[in-house]
Amino acid sequence: MVTIFEPDALFRAGELRFGETLAVDARGTIVASAPTDAARVRLPGRVMLPGLVNGHSHAFQRVLRGRTELTNPGSSDDFWSWREAMYAAATSLDPEGVYVVSRQAFLEMALAGITTVGEFHYLHHQPDGTPYADEHELAAQVVRAATEVGVRLVLLRVGYARAGFEVAPNPRQRRFLDPDVETCLRRTAELQRRFTSPYVTVGLAPHSVRAVPRPWLTAMRAWTGVLHMHVSEQPAEIAACLAEHGRRPIELLDEVGLLGPSFTGVHAIHLEADEVRLLGNSKSAVCACPSTERNLGDGVVRADELLAAGVTVSLGTDSQAHVDLLDDARQLEGHLRLLRLKRNVLTPATGAPSALAARLLSIATEGGARSLALPVGSLEPGRPADFVTVRRDGPLVAGLPDQALLSGLVLGGAEVADVAVAGRFIVRDREHASAHASTQSFLATMRQLTQ
Ligand SMILES: [Zn+2]
Repeated sequence: MVTIFEPDALFRAGELRFGETLAVDARGTIVASAPTDAARVRLPGRVMLPGLVNGHSHAFQRVLRGRTELTNPGSSDDFWSWREAMYAAATSLDPEGVYVVSRQAFLEMALAGITTVGEFHYLHHQPDGTPYADEHELAAQVVRAATEVGVRLVLLRVGYARAGFEVAPNPRQRRFLDPDVETCLRRTAELQRRFTSPYVTVGLAPHSVRAVPRPWLTAMRAWTGVLHMHVSEQPAEIAACLAEHGRRPIELLDEVGLLGPSFTGVHAIHLEADEVRLLGNSKSAVCACPSTERNLGDGVVRADELLAAGVTVSLGTDSQAHVDLLDDARQLEGHLRLLRLKRNVLTPATGAPSALAARLLSIATEGGARSLALPVGSLEPGRPADFVTVRRDGPLVAGLPDQALLSGLVLGGAEVADVAVAGRFIVRDREHASAHASTQSFLATMRQLTQ
């Protein structure tokens, strides 16, 4: 059975195509042609885009939004003070709480058009560090939450060894720790064997050069799948890396052999020119998280330099300070405008007038798909039918001619209407079947946390 979805226009091969349709077979795969008796789903007033790919998320940090914005006159407030609040949240959630909060985060992502999430998962154990009876209890709760919402999940299991170079152990990090790298790799491989659904895959995520010593990084070369790592988010992290290793983070990762097409550096803000070159030459990827980086005062990802060097760039919602990946795409360009004092910074040298919008959309879709090694991110035949529709008939793009529509949607604003994973709607006319139950449970959990 083939179903034909009929929007006003769809995004394919770098442009909006008016009058084209999307044919999807019973397995949820896009096909090139459909039989005459195929079912038809009319989507009038809608523009279809590939489902957005969120390359970097910590779902549980959804509990922090709005709670870390109180000012404290006279004291400094930065990444490191925010991190203390994050640790308090990280130590307070039980398995059901992890499920409830993750489900709400994934629900909000789905409502914003996200169909795939790369979840950088580092809550592993009980608050005192003792493993649960099932060592993968909390990972299973995150998978349960994503499955309930219907988004694809790449569970990036974090390896975490220590508080930092010559830093005393921090009891609030006990939930994150593995005793040694062999255990970390064993547990990650176990997860890979356990989750065999086509909607859940597993990757490895050494947390950062701060949290993982060199012998761990060397041992992690044995991992052949997707490998994500926080890198160069804060200047203090570079200084510590220089003190411990005599080289900068990307130089260290190059030396131990972790860079390459499977590697994604998350943030990668404070880079020297030679580090940009190393990332590009190795065909590595970078995941920028503009709304979180803005919220934490991290700095600006130089996506123009990275793209010019051949680095794949993707986007993540990270701390969930804001869950709107198209807005992250806008911010990626917007922050560079503030830095470079000009407009159209990420516009490719050649292309149509909507080439900037097309590039930003591809960063929010194909960039993430490549970083997570999934075949999603485009509406070509043979790919999974993960898509989002946005309103063409709403006020955000009112009066725009067809040739300005893509730019208006990506750089002006887009109202998500429907979201489908493998050809099955998880959001229809802005409604998700689990929304009410999820929000009620989330409210109750938040009340408990703040009592
Ligand atoms: Zn992160």
